[in-house]
Amino acid sequence: MSTPHKKLFIPGPVEIAPEILEAMAAPMIGHRMKEYAVIHGRIKANLKKLLFTDGRVFLATSSAFGVMEGAVRNLVSKRCANFCNGAFSDKWHDVTKRCGKEADAFKAEWGQPITPEIVDQALSTGKYDSMTLIHNETSTGVMSPLAEICEVLRRYPDVVSIVDTVSSMSAVKVPLDELGIDCCIFGVQKAFALPPGLAVFTASDKALARAATVEGRGYYFDFLEFAANDEKDNTPSTPCISQIYALDLQLQRFFAEGLEQRWERHRIMAEQVRDWVKSQGYGLFPEEKYCSQTLTCATNAKGTDLATLKKMLGERGYAFDDGYGKIKGKTFRIAHMGDMQPKDLLEFTEVIEDCLRNIS
Ligand SMILES: *Cc1c(COP(=O)(O)O)cnc(C)c1O
Repeated sequence: MSTPHKKLFIPGPVEIAPEILEAMAAPMIGHRMKEYAVIHGRIKANLKKLLFTDGRVFLATSSAFGVMEGAVRNLVSKRCANFCNGAFSDKWHDVTKRCGKEADAFKAEWGQPITPEIVDQALSTGKYDSMTLIHNETSTGVMSPLAEICEVLRRYPDVVSIVDTVSSMSAVKVPLDELGIDCCIFGVQKAFALPPGLAVFTASDKALARAATVEGRGYYFDFLEFAANDEKDNTPSTPCISQIYALDLQLQRFFAEGLEQRWERHRIMAEQVRDWVKSQGYGLFPEEKYCSQTLTCATNAKGTDLATLKKMLGERGYAFDDGYGKIKGKTFRIAHMGDMQPKDLLEFTEVIEDCLRNIS
């Protein structure tokens, strides 16, 4: 028997709308049947609208790291610059090397953004033909200035840009073609508010041309296999069809809400949580202008016993995050992404306040 459900305020996976869970229970179809291509085609068209791109959009059955690894295997030929400012981007550097690629890490302190200057300095060495960047470092709650970084990238047309938007895509505007991103990757269990196991990625002409020259792409994440199957609104191997039903409905829900309204809701929720954090005497881990729009990472300035707080919240039916990796216990994170509403956050912060009154 499963334990009672805890309402998720952690930065992924996040709460899933009941109608999404219902959509996943629909009867199965075959992925080589016409019915599948219809759904896949509709999803692609909606993703292109959401991502502001006319380029190729692919669906992969894996968590985000599957495609993050796949992108490195397909797109790094000479040497990769991995920009690192937190646990996920640090890991991506590790993954790049594990794939047997030449790579260097350019690190900013945890809590700091990757700046256009850091990127410019690295790429101006001329050593790199590819780069990885995480738009929104979920471990530290930092959103790096993507538009300014992409301005710098324009000066390096031979560099293929690989950008992770796992915890930002759909919550803020990320217009891929305007930014000139070659390969954008995101899983769906965070900002998209879907169950985990499905990832979306894009590949520009430049990215596909690079992939065609790179050996050791493997099969499961071979970008050329994805491109060939894409012509038929299909995937190289059997996709997670139930989750694809969910993605289909979720995209329709995004457009029903309205993209502008969705971005605005995230802006309001981020402000609400930052204000609450400050009002309680905690600090913001990143500098305020780099604070993420989808989660807030707070410093435990009052030295609260976060393990006890987490336990108390758990008993009251709420999942709380007491920090990630090396900043666990020193920080805590509150997610405000996906389908969450300001009133959900108000409910959560009121319960936290109540728990805090009962912790010495
Ligand atoms: C969660 C997360 C990942 C890892 O995703 P998986 O789906 O667990 O593979 C990668 N990047 C960012 C920014 C994340 O938040």
